[in-house]
Amino acid sequence: MAWRCSGATNNELVENLVRKGLIKNERVKRAMMAVDRGHYAPSRPYSDSPQAIGYGATISAPHMHGHACEYLINYLKPGSRVLDIGSGSGYLTHVIANLVVDPPSSEGSKGQVIGVDHIPELVDLAHNNMRKSEEGRSLLDSERVKFITTDGRRGWSEGAPYDAIHVGAAAQELHPLLVEQLRAPGRMFIPVNVEDEQGTLASAAFGGGQYIWVVDKKEDGSIHKEKVFQVSYVPLTDAPKH
Ligand code: SAH
Repeated sequence: MAWRCSGATNNELVENLVRKGLIKNERVKRAMMAVDRGHYAPSRPYSDSPQAIGYGATISAPHMHGHACEYLINYLKPGSRVLDIGSGSGYLTHVIANLVVDPPSSEGSKGQVIGVDHIPELVDLAHNNMRKSEEGRSLLDSERVKFITTDGRRGWSEGAPYDAIHVGAAAQELHPLLVEQLRAPGRMFIPVNVEDEQGTLASAAFGGGQYIWVVDKKEDGSIHKEKVFQVSYVPLTDAPKH
């Protein structure tokens, strides 16, 4: 399915994602149209596939960015606070910022997105990518977007609670610290590796593999978890030693 959505330009790519029903929400469409993937993906930016960005990381495929925004959209309102863990290229952080800061340059808006990565060079890359556009520079200068180098498995408690948490790398568990940092109500979108009984990573055929989980913290603080579809993300790991 993926490659069929590729386009020659950013607009064509997003239009194709809409046509195939991968993006349904008009706000998601507008937010993705407003961010040029060419600023974030070093090669084939309008191809509907993941691309390497160095340091073992990838910018996820556009349809995955679309899915993430669609699942989180009710929690991505002007004024929402969002944590984007494994921010990598910074692309999705920028798209989310467009959804929570409205209008993008408004000083009064309280919306904020915190992008977290554990590789300092990728945090620099995300900054530099975002500074390629005037809108991106203004989001950084007004601190509506902040990139932080830290281990995302612990979240970033200084900015909590968050209306939405997006995790862009596969976790070994639904880290309790992340659930704790969700607002009530709030929602987390997180890929999780499911292990088989032997404790090894199992393929889908054996009931294991990697799935997106949508975790809702309800108004009364109760937690509802749902496994929604199978995916393939790079893992959330320890930071590489220098
Ligand atoms: N959303 C990003 C995905 C990047 S790939 C994008 O589309 O560009 C996943 C990212 O998770 C990588 O940048 C990697 O460095 C980061 N990562 C892996 N383990 C992490 C951890 N423990 N804490 C924070 N970031 C982590």
